[in-house]
Amino acid sequence: MLAFRSLKLISTRAIALSAAKRSFSSSIVAHNTPTSLHAFTDDELMLRESVADFAQNIIKPLVPQMEEEEQMPSELISNLFEHGLMGVETSADLGGSEMSFTAALIAIEELAKVDPSVSAMVDIHNTLCNTILKKYGTKELSERYLPQLATKSVASFCLSEAGAGSDAFALQTRAEDKGDHYLLNGTKMWISNSKEADVFIVFATVDPSKGYKGISCFVVERDWGVTIAKKEKKLGLRASSTCVVNFDDVKVPKENVLGEIGLGYKYAIEMLNEGRIGIAAQMTGLAQGVYDMALPYMYERKQFGRHIGDFQGMQHQYAQIATEIEASRLLTYNAARMREEGRNFVQEAAMAKLFSSQVAEKAASKAIEWMGGIGFTREAGLEKFYRDAKIGAIYEGTSNMQLQTIAKIQAEKYK
Ligand SMILES: Cc1cc2nc3c(=O)[nH]c(=O)nc-3n(C[C@H](O)[C@H](O)[C@H](O)COP(=O)(O)OP(=O)(O)OC[C@H]3O[C@@H](n4cnc5c(N)ncnc54)[C@H](O)[C@@H]3O)c2cc1C
Repeated sequence: MLAFRSLKLISTRAIALSAAKRSFSSSIVAHNTPTSLHAFTDDELMLRESVADFAQNIIKPLVPQMEEEEQMPSELISNLFEHGLMGVETSADLGGSEMSFTAALIAIEELAKVDPSVSAMVDIHNTLCNTILKKYGTKELSERYLPQLATKSVASFCLSEAGAGSDAFALQTRAEDKGDHYLLNGTKMWISNSKEADVFIVFATVDPSKGYKGISCFVVERDWGVTIAKKEKKLGLRASSTCVVNFDDVKVPKENVLGEIGLGYKYAIEMLNEGRIGIAAQMTGLAQGVYDMALPYMYERKQFGRHIGDFQGMQHQYAQIATEIEASRLLTYNAARMREEGRNFVQEAAMAKLFSSQVAEKAASKAIEWMGGIGFTREAGLEKFYRDAKIGAIYEGTSNMQLQTIAKIQAEKYK
């Protein structure tokens, strides 16, 4: 904590106050000047620098321990709150940093360069949980939950179930209307952040006979009887908790219905559409992080009397990966700016997630090869990125689901 304070970190809250009035989208619209996707506001650039410092100086030394223990130290989570990374878009009057969606992605990308698990926590908390509360919460719900989510309480997004993954609307969790409250019963699977969470955004059906039109969304507190049944042991993202979460006769007051009863399916689709851009930022960061680890080695290691990075066979490979990482980043920030400009970004978000997750896997695999035997050792720290990359093709919609979304939009255009 002290070490972190001593860094020249900008307070994200301080940035927020100046950032609030100067969003990128409004400046584009005001001046109608097209810019490259490398154009960021001063505040976004400062945030990138400060999160990069945080990741390098505070998170990186903890990574081996987090991998070994498969959990995140609570002090690190407190640090994320303290520096405004858990309420990036939340307004300053509710305790947040009041920055842009792009700023949230910048934080996610920078964190993933060093540890994709920490990045996942920040991503899910911000782009799914805070966003749904901000968008659909009543004034009372927003005022009750957004300040705590910006300052001290971790949140989870509970949609998937054993029989409802890609087909999320096959969910079985039941919310029975009991007059002054709903009674929640069911089991959610693979829920990120759930070990640490105090607040759960839960999708359940009020009437299974209505199909997807019965799905509704609830804000549930851990203390009301939410239990963690099992913490999964995973291939990657080991420090990010992924658990089976049980809701057994959990009483949820009616004022904790998020939005309208029966519209939960719509909210879930909307959140995942934009959440996907967060995963794309995470995968872009992962790819860049592993690339940044391998490239310097190419100019330390000599074979046949030359740096291995000077062999054309190596140059062509890293030039290719550098190009693909750049393409990932452009797809990601383009989708983000489209969302900020109020355009339809569904296809672009799907493309960004699909492509960046492919690039992350490829970059991690190549980086290990580039470092030869050393790359294959755990000590080098690359194999973790190789394992972590795999999740990009699975959560918030598998790669097949992204392809299906893109194909549907393409077909509509040409049919
Ligand atoms: C680490 C981790 C964290 C997660 N975090 C969360 C979370 O916080 N909250 C949450 O709600 N969920 C979470 N999930 C769940 C995740 O979103 C699901 O695992 C994902 O949606 C895929 O569902 P599934 O596992 O049931 O796979 P399935 O849907 O069974 O898919 C298996 C395979 O079949 C393919 N497939 C399925 N249907 C089709 C189709 N129609 N056409 C073509 N191919 C198809 C898929 O592409 C995939 O390759 C997490 C999962 C993991 C592993």
